[in-house]
Amino acid sequence: MAEPLLRVENLVKHFPVKGGFFSREVDHVRAVDGVSLHIDAGETLGLVGESGCGKSTSGRCILRLIEPTSGEVWFEGKNVTAMQADALRLVRRDMQIIFQDPYASLNPRMTVGAIVGEALTIHALADTAKAYDDRVVDLLETVGLHADHRLRYPHEFSGGQRQRIGIARALAVSPKLIICDEPVSALDVSVQAQVINLLEDLQQKFNLTYLFVAHDLSVVEHISTRVAVMYLGRIVEIASARDLYTAPKHPYTEALLSAVPIPDPKVKRKRIVLEGDVPNPIKPPAGCHFHPRCPRAEERCKSEAPLLREIAPGRVSACHFSA
Ligand code: SF4
Repeated sequence: MAEPLLRVENLVKHFPVKGGFFSREVDHVRAVDGVSLHIDAGETLGLVGESGCGKSTSGRCILRLIEPTSGEVWFEGKNVTAMQADALRLVRRDMQIIFQDPYASLNPRMTVGAIVGEALTIHALADTAKAYDDRVVDLLETVGLHADHRLRYPHEFSGGQRQRIGIARALAVSPKLIICDEPVSALDVSVQAQVINLLEDLQQKFNLTYLFVAHDLSVVEHISTRVAVMYLGRIVEIASARDLYTAPKHPYTEALLSAVPIPDPKVKRKRIVLEGDVPNPIKPPAGCHFHPRCPRAEERCKSEAPLLREIAPGRVSACHFSA
């Protein structure tokens, strides 16, 4: 089988918890606890789960914006986790990120032209001032903004426009993979669809590959080729988008999906309301992490952690009873 564009093996990120008189390390937040996944060139993998499940941390560890505690990230057959600074700088041209908050992620003191063109300077991608300016204009127009916008500042733009600026910035280095870290969750619902449509168009045009992080299955439904569902630092299910939305196998996926509205009023879906909150990732429950909230939990779930196992070709689930 061909090597996927991105392969993540057993990625772990634990953040130290300090306490006591000497501020010693007393425990760990298990933010990402053994995530493995792959993404083929040209596809979109949706990564979904409630706030705090580790999906954004996983995205940042893949790019090494945060150093993982352990595990490996392979991009085009190269081990990103073992790279020194120079090699990492080069590979970051191919792997970009769009951040969740278009208000906080743009430097308010820089013009839009300087924000979008910054990477051109860092990676020496424009030989002359004219080449730089032409490329900035081209990038702005590609994301639906105007050439004149390069002279203005981020605060002069709406949330949707700011996210377009963030997308133009990511495109500046012609990346192969973009990690979209909740790119629409800070936007009005009416603007969300426009940004998702833009990302889909750009994917076609530039043959991009996306890891699309979202807390809501409805957001990634149309853009994803496959979807991975995370709970408390671990992947609990991965399936093609069609299989996952029509026949979820993991009880947590079923619960998330039951909250997604169906546009056809004749189709009824029973809402599964999960009891309680996501448990503390410092002391996750024994056995299956999901058992305190799982409507299908049995005695063995309290002590025996289910493995993420293949239940059909290309489909994995971490539940003792998935088949
Ligand atoms: Fe629920 Fe048990 Fe399956 Fe975990 S292993 S998801 S607790 S049924």
